[in-house]
Amino acid sequence: MPEVVLRGVSKKYGKVVAVDDISLTIKDGEYVTILGPSGCGKTTLIRMIAGIIQPTEGQVFIGGKDMKGVEIEDRDLGYVFQNIALFPNLNVADNVAYSPRVKDRPAEEQAATAKKYLELVKLLDRMSMLPGELCGGEQQKVSLARALATGSKLLLLDEPLSALDARVRMDLRYDLRRLVKQLGITTVHVTHDQEEAMSVSDRIVLMRKGSVMEMGSPEQLYTKPQNMFTANFIGETNFFEGWVKERADGLSKIELRDGSEMSVANCPFDKGTAIVVSVRPEFVFPFTSGLHAKITSITYMGTYWRISTEADSEDEVELDVPVADGSLYKIGQEVYLMVNRKAAIVFPRPREGIAEAISLE
Ligand code: ADP
Ligand code: MG
Repeated sequence: MPEVVLRGVSKKYGKVVAVDDISLTIKDGEYVTILGPSGCGKTTLIRMIAGIIQPTEGQVFIGGKDMKGVEIEDRDLGYVFQNIALFPNLNVADNVAYSPRVKDRPAEEQAATAKKYLELVKLLDRMSMLPGELCGGEQQKVSLARALATGSKLLLLDEPLSALDARVRMDLRYDLRRLVKQLGITTVHVTHDQEEAMSVSDRIVLMRKGSVMEMGSPEQLYTKPQNMFTANFIGETNFFEGWVKERADGLSKIELRDGSEMSVANCPFDKGTAIVVSVRPEFVFPFTSGLHAKITSITYMGTYWRISTEADSEDEVELDVPVADGSLYKIGQEVYLMVNRKAAIVFPRPREGIAEAISLE
């Protein structure tokens, strides 16, 4: 069964370290997303799993077997490329039947396989058309059907939805997860889109500059990120710079740059430590007291209003208020802000500065 194990895998191009010493186990049947900013090494990593390129160091195991020297055709996997690569002169059914055809399966079986997977992606009525006659979303589905038609239990997807309109992309996400779970397939899905990663994955592997920053379930990474890069990259967050003023098992006191104070429930650092507190916009509330701030912008978001403020502490703070409360706020207005103490996460202040610690480069 296709458990994928990476052991100390690196890929170097001269001085460029595209992937830097990654060890990772993707369990049989698991849906894992490799997430990270453009250029962080995602495609390089998935290509090494596929066998399109060879690691400079380290080993790739699929189903317990060392893949060194094993060609892509012999790895028993389905691969969807970053750019849709359908055969333009073959019709949809023949594109999907590609794998059974190169395996010399009987003609009836080829046709039945094409039918089965086109039905799964709901494109049976397009089977006689050429790829050029389909829209982007349909081409993407054909490409997925072709990968599934290999019959392999390991599916590698490189930005499979990135070329699509936002609406189609959202619909396809759910189709994708439903399909592969239904078929019991192990999936490695590469994306730079954190929302996409959150909505399809059992587990997210967050990469930065060739390395794994952090991995965990979408909920773990959103609610309990272990570092500032994760807190910033997955979802949105506010950072408050300060020091631990009083450390206690219950509530700890944080002092901000203007001397104002904030209480947080979980502070693992000693008194005097320079820290950064991360609080997501949905956990900041206007109140009758708290951090003094001035509203700098108000944006209608459909289901809520996003209010941006500048606090006296120099921290920029964003918060969301219910649609019905939108008329209560104006640009330039002074407000007091409270944060949900339990939702506040405290990080040690990075030596290189916040901007550098969360930078995507
Ligand atoms: P991602 O898919 O996350 O956007 P890639 O894996 O494509 O990132 O690239 C990671 C880094 O490796 C980039 O800096 C890229 O320029 C470099 N890189 C990728 N492929 C090659 C190559 N064939 N030769 C030289 N550098 C490469
Ligand atoms: Mg890529």
